[in-house]
Amino acid sequence: MATIDKKLAEELLEKVKKQKRPIYLCIVKYWNTMCGKESYAYCKGEAQFVAVVNSPVVSDVQILWRKQNPKADAFFAELGFGKANSDSWMDEFLDLVCEAYKDAFIAYVDQGENKDDFDEHLDSCENCARAVEKAFEKSAEAFEKISEELHKKD
Ligand SMILES: [Zn+2]
Repeated sequence: MATIDKKLAEELLEKVKKQKRPIYLCIVKYWNTMCGKESYAYCKGEAQFVAVVNSPVVSDVQILWRKQNPKADAFFAELGFGKANSDSWMDEFLDLVCEAYKDAFIAYVDQGENKDDFDEHLDSCENCARAVEKAFEKSAEAFEKISEELHKKD
């Protein structure tokens, strides 16, 4: 696992939230039982996350941020980390999106794909840009919820 300090974790979190195609699977906070302090780690893939969760020196894992797509949802759900309900919040903002870009919006928010040059459209369309912004906000909220749920379990 890649252990990092709090400042770096916060910087990474801000950076990764803005990324359209996040390279990380998740950023987690955990209690390091060996040195008795809070630590942070980022995982580039599923194997790294599993290693963190199963490490004997790790307890109280909280996911600060995680990738949100059907594959990641299934992976985290399987490990008992809950499922981010991406469909319901996505629908909420779909009304704001131009008719011709509804599919592109979903691909953009869910998979980080730039379909139909949606990127360029965002520069000139206030409504679609607002929908994307709101969807990302909601997605960040969903991550926090997951982390809260995790906390309760321990
Ligand atoms: Zn638009």
